[in-house]
Amino acid sequence: MNNKLEEIMRRIEGGATVVTVNARLSRSLCFAFDDMMKTAGRGAWPSPDILPLDAWKERIWNESSPDTPLLSSVRAKALWERTVERDPLIKSGELLLEKGTASLSFEAYMLLKEYRLTIPDYDLYLTEEAKALKRWAAIYEEEVKRLGFANRAMLSTLAGARLKGVKALSEVVFAGFDELSPATRLLIDAVVKSGLKASYWPREPGTDVCGKPLSFDHARVSLTRFDSENDEITYAAKWARSVIKPGVSVAVIVPELGTYADIISREFRAELAPASVLPDYDGPDAFNISLGRALSEEPLVRSALDALSIGTGKDGRNELDDLSLVLLSPYFSSLAHERLECARFDARLKDAGFLTISIAEAVRYVGSDAGAAFLVKKFNAWALALKDARGKKLASQWALHSSALLKNIGWLGNVKLTSVEYQALKAWNRLFEEFSSLDDLLGPLTFGEAFKKLTSLATDAIHQAETPRRQIQVLGLLESTGLYFDRIRLICCHEDVLPGEPRPNPFIPLDIQKAAKLPNSSHARELEFARKVVKRLVASCKTLDVSFPAMVDRKQTGASAIFSSLEVKKPIDGQYASNTLKSAVSKANGFETMPVEDDVPVSSAELAAIRGGTLIIKDQSLCPFKAFATHRLVAKEVTGAELGLSAADRGRVVHRALKLFWEKAKGSAELRRMFAKGELDGFIKEIATEAFKGVRIAWPLSVRFAELEKERLISVLKEWTHEELGRGEFTVKAVEKTVSVNIGGLAIEGRIDRIDEVEDKREVILDYKTGEAKREDWLGQRPREPQLIIYSRTGRYDCVSFARLIPGDCKFVGISNSADILPGVKPLEADKFREKSGPEPPSWDGLMANWKVTVETLANDFLAGRAGVNPLEPKTCLYCGLAPLCRINDIGLIADIDDEE
Ligand code: SF4
Repeated sequence: MNNKLEEIMRRIEGGATVVTVNARLSRSLCFAFDDMMKTAGRGAWPSPDILPLDAWKERIWNESSPDTPLLSSVRAKALWERTVERDPLIKSGELLLEKGTASLSFEAYMLLKEYRLTIPDYDLYLTEEAKALKRWAAIYEEEVKRLGFANRAMLSTLAGARLKGVKALSEVVFAGFDELSPATRLLIDAVVKSGLKASYWPREPGTDVCGKPLSFDHARVSLTRFDSENDEITYAAKWARSVIKPGVSVAVIVPELGTYADIISREFRAELAPASVLPDYDGPDAFNISLGRALSEEPLVRSALDALSIGTGKDGRNELDDLSLVLLSPYFSSLAHERLECARFDARLKDAGFLTISIAEAVRYVGSDAGAAFLVKKFNAWALALKDARGKKLASQWALHSSALLKNIGWLGNVKLTSVEYQALKAWNRLFEEFSSLDDLLGPLTFGEAFKKLTSLATDAIHQAETPRRQIQVLGLLESTGLYFDRIRLICCHEDVLPGEPRPNPFIPLDIQKAAKLPNSSHARELEFARKVVKRLVASCKTLDVSFPAMVDRKQTGASAIFSSLEVKKPIDGQYASNTLKSAVSKANGFETMPVEDDVPVSSAELAAIRGGTLIIKDQSLCPFKAFATHRLVAKEVTGAELGLSAADRGRVVHRALKLFWEKAKGSAELRRMFAKGELDGFIKEIATEAFKGVRIAWPLSVRFAELEKERLISVLKEWTHEELGRGEFTVKAVEKTVSVNIGGLAIEGRIDRIDEVEDKREVILDYKTGEAKREDWLGQRPREPQLIIYSRTGRYDCVSFARLIPGDCKFVGISNSADILPGVKPLEADKFREKSGPEPPSWDGLMANWKVTVETLANDFLAGRAGVNPLEPKTCLYCGLAPLCRINDIGLIADIDDEE
């Protein structure tokens, strides 16, 4: 135990009250006190009086003024919101009530009180926001008084005035404060004036242990640059494992902990508790991570809110995705067979094309599913509960209703909760109690309004689960206040986060904010504060290792300016060995770094069962793993319905329309006749109507969307027939012709969209494309579109071409053996495409032979079981739903593409 810690322990033992800057420091000092008592051999001891500042002020008030209760935080916010909503300018629409207005203005009000500031009376120079804040503050304070409560915003002043009445208070130690707001200073002055002893620990804010201003001891600080945040975090995890020893305390401090919390948790767990990566691991973490987050973000609470949201949409309908969240939640069904039932039902709903759904509809739909008895029961209970959710009720009545609803639909049914989940559940139950206390302020509400309010309370409530104390602490910058560590590593400390960007509150005039140096008011203020915090960190440890990434969000960055005087070092390769399970397994087995992929050839029994047509070759070309997973493992993406027609559905309708068209028209002669007689447009309309029969468009856009889609189809068909009118004479020999072709032992079945015969009995194969179609897609050993290449093997053709059906850009995109077969399609000898087809530009027959080899190689690879995760290009993954299976995300490829798109 260091001297400063010993000193405060002695004072606590002597009866001092310790008022800490945050709950974490209170907890840490309580632990240290208990340790000291145990070391001293004491069997029992009185609880130390250590508590955070807000809790202490509240205690003083409650003890000294039992007749005037303090307005709770939740009620205070609700009252403020009501004040804002009732503002005549907002009601009349003169002032817009934007999302966040109430909470931002309430923050501004609290800040003014904490810094003892007022907005001046000269309205002429004030912004509308500042004027509104003045108005709302006056009404709010009147209301608090009228309701008979003490105003929480004034608590420092109120508590300061009541100090004399507080029993058993002799000395107060203010612990861990980097700076003091004017209201807190006033409170401390009141402590002194009331004859009590007041002191600071470990030092007065902004000074070192000797009372001098804090300085920056360069000799104890190092600065390292890493290539990326990932490298930096992985290194920090290995570093923490290597420096941890009995009696050594270690902290990893992260200025933007919220941004990095997930990756830190993952890497630190893998390094410090290697078995945690195994599915059944239920052991403790080897570190504490201090990150309070919105209660609504706790998975258990989120699942309750998701379930309660069902039925709150227009006409009781919700987007299918909302219901999917509930169906796939582990808190809704805990047993394996139930989860499977839920997942199957979810896939059925998606398959059926539901875009939105009500519980009544779900009941009807699940009713026909014999294998889903568990769900039938749940949905019936749900429908019954929602019948009760009509009309207006008070918040406390809705709280009871919501609890019953969750219970009846089996939320948390057989779920065995972890300690963290149990704490979230307790916080959720407390939230319900607070919500129930708002009857007088909120008045009668609909279920939708009550749900909205409950969600906003859960979003405002910051929750942090308590976990057993560990030697390694991962903390945000402010949570480390007052704590002492042997080693501190300050990571992800680049120029954009230390200091952070100023974010002045728009409700307080900027000049007032700057003059009073309010938090977030200016860059200078943030820099000054950041310097203070870093100096405090230097003073709180033996050595401080600072690091920063060279790239953030694919932008180059540098170290925080605070460390500009330090020399930048590079990490030493292999300095700390990895302890992860992956590295242990690799080491024990002498694995090479590159994964060895064993091919698993297709057996003859498997071959007989493989289906997939030309798509097998296309998938093998786009990504061997995709072909393997889709055609051998039969993996399938569960896709939801889309608004209107999906691209695939639209393609199907166009294909159907063109099939119907040419089955009747049969060639250029009839096409020209209809055109000459003015019958073509009418014929196209008939065909479009026929093609649309049976096409289902998801509710609620069905009627109007179907009309628009039909109009779109008619216009594409008109444009396309004009393209066909520009051709010479032709006869349509076949439409949607089924063909079989054996490629290197792989039997492929396919359907050629159309085969035409032109002058001199030359034949053309056409492939309709409603999206982008390029001849470049036929090039190389891995062509993007091998379908026509495969079909070219089913006969002796003189032209292969896409028929590109994109409105405004309809045309033939192909290659031919001779001239004048299709408009815009040149003979191969005169076509630049020939040059691109290989180092030795082939003849027509040579090209056909090359294509044969290309598709045979792909078929052979598929049959030989070559299934590497090797997308043709990053974009390929964007249109593939197998990423969760192939885990391409682990190398960050998809994220990169998303950014580019
Ligand atoms: S997501 Fe990409 S890498 Fe994974 S299977 Fe699909 S195409 Fe291949």
